[in-house]
Amino acid sequence: MNDNELLRYSRHIFLNEIDLDGQEKLQQATVMIIGCGGLGNACIPILAGAGIGHLILCDHDVIEYSNLQRQFAFTPKDIHHTKVDVIAHYLHQRNSDLNITPINAYINTELLEKYVPKCDVIVDCTDNSKTRHLINQAAVKYNIPLVSASVIQFSGQLAVFDSRLANSPCYACLFPELNTEDKSCSQNGVFSPLVHQIGAAQAAEVMKLIIGFGTSSAGKMVQFEGIDFSTYHLALEKNPHCPVCSSSNSLHSYFSK
Ligand SMILES: [Zn+2]
Repeated sequence: MNDNELLRYSRHIFLNEIDLDGQEKLQQATVMIIGCGGLGNACIPILAGAGIGHLILCDHDVIEYSNLQRQFAFTPKDIHHTKVDVIAHYLHQRNSDLNITPINAYINTELLEKYVPKCDVIVDCTDNSKTRHLINQAAVKYNIPLVSASVIQFSGQLAVFDSRLANSPCYACLFPELNTEDKSCSQNGVFSPLVHQIGAAQAAEVMKLIIGFGTSSAGKMVQFEGIDFSTYHLALEKNPHCPVCSSSNSLHSYFSK
């Protein structure tokens, strides 16, 4: 680590739980973040600021005026530009040494097969259950921890699915139905401060997983209500009949559908 890096990351290095060793782990890590909307705009700059070595960003969307209320990497001049390229530029302006791979596409099995095996952690910042199931299948297949979150109106949820742990459930254990109807921000609204709280919590979980300090949220779901700051911790159980994580044979058939 050079002198500038030592200064840039000093406030993390001062923390006993991180120290130089932890900072070096962050700088050697590869993290894939899928979704550069509200949660992504909160989570990605924190991970970049913390010095994650390689950030793989994936999003298919372009910037709209309705994003500006909570997606602060974007400005009015960015309207109709691709989210993933604008946020990569935003990060590079703040640290030209960052190694960022922007992928301007819908996430799909081919992209997951290409990038997930290279990752230390995957972060799900998407907004629909079909995509979440696809990401979960790849995370289970390659035993990569998945930090998943969602926010709608005043409610936020955060969960870590870590298939390296024998009893840790996967996303499909919890939400087995593929055809559930999603609530969207565009139809239901979303409270901007809550998006940032939950996105920041995702970044914290990523750093804890990479460095190995604190307590991971694996095996539980944290629900946070932005309207009154009430917090619930729900214990999650592995489904012994889960088509994704209960056996390698069923996973193969599921993943290749
Ligand atoms: Zn499962």
